[in-house]
Amino acid sequence: MPIVEFQDVSRVYTSGDHELRALDHVNMQLHEGRFIVILGPSGAGKSTLLNLLGGLDSPTEGKIVVDGKDISTLSNNELADYRAQTVGFIFQFYNLVPTLTVLENVKLVEEIAPNALSASQMLEEVGLSDHRKNFPSELSGGEQQRVSIARALAKNPKILLCDEPTGALDSETGVLVLKLLLRMAKQYGKTIVIVTHNQNIAKIADIVIRVKNGRIRSCEEQASPMSADEVDW
Ligand code: ADP
Repeated sequence: MPIVEFQDVSRVYTSGDHELRALDHVNMQLHEGRFIVILGPSGAGKSTLLNLLGGLDSPTEGKIVVDGKDISTLSNNELADYRAQTVGFIFQFYNLVPTLTVLENVKLVEEIAPNALSASQMLEEVGLSDHRKNFPSELSGGEQQRVSIARALAKNPKILLCDEPTGALDSETGVLVLKLLLRMAKQYGKTIVIVTHNQNIAKIADIVIRVKNGRIRSCEEQASPMSADEVDW
């Protein structure tokens, strides 16, 4: 059984009498433990798709089943539980709380996630134990993204959702962060979904889904994806 299934999912934004179909009858199945890249140009609908999968938004039409549960009909409270338990988020601009230390940022998830892992251990695994008492503004972009990886993993979700996770980093730092993210996802057995317009990230994925104008154009399984070290970043 797939861990994620989209059945004829559409998301239509309405303003006045104007309708914008950000996602248009999307069908897809994602399997557990895979590294999936959703690729497409700006405005294709990638973030809309990720927001629906993350329970940050609900579809206008269709059904989204995650881990055997239909999330398209959940109430706001039920969606909050879903976000706390099933999905971890990594965003382009880190979304750390500026007034909390690095350790406090990661520990925050203990308040919402029932199966949270040790914040200190996660910080150790991303190599930031020495920075646990620093504030986010005292860290580089790459370090802040490593904190957000530790935070997403500390929630202990089944699925990691990443929206342009290296988009705000220089190429060299981006590759290091990406390698860390993939190593941690594998070590902890997570399904990982990255949305990006970076074609290079697609080269190392198990599955590449191409989106354009709100539709899935192709879904390709790569039998032997390149390793991050083989890609000419
Ligand atoms: P991508 O992530 O691929 O750049 P998005 O999912 O952000 O694409 O956007 C897809 C389309 O939906 C775009 O045309 C965008 O302008 C529109 N859109 C996204 N969010 C909203 C919103 N909250 N209200 C109205 N239109 C939106």
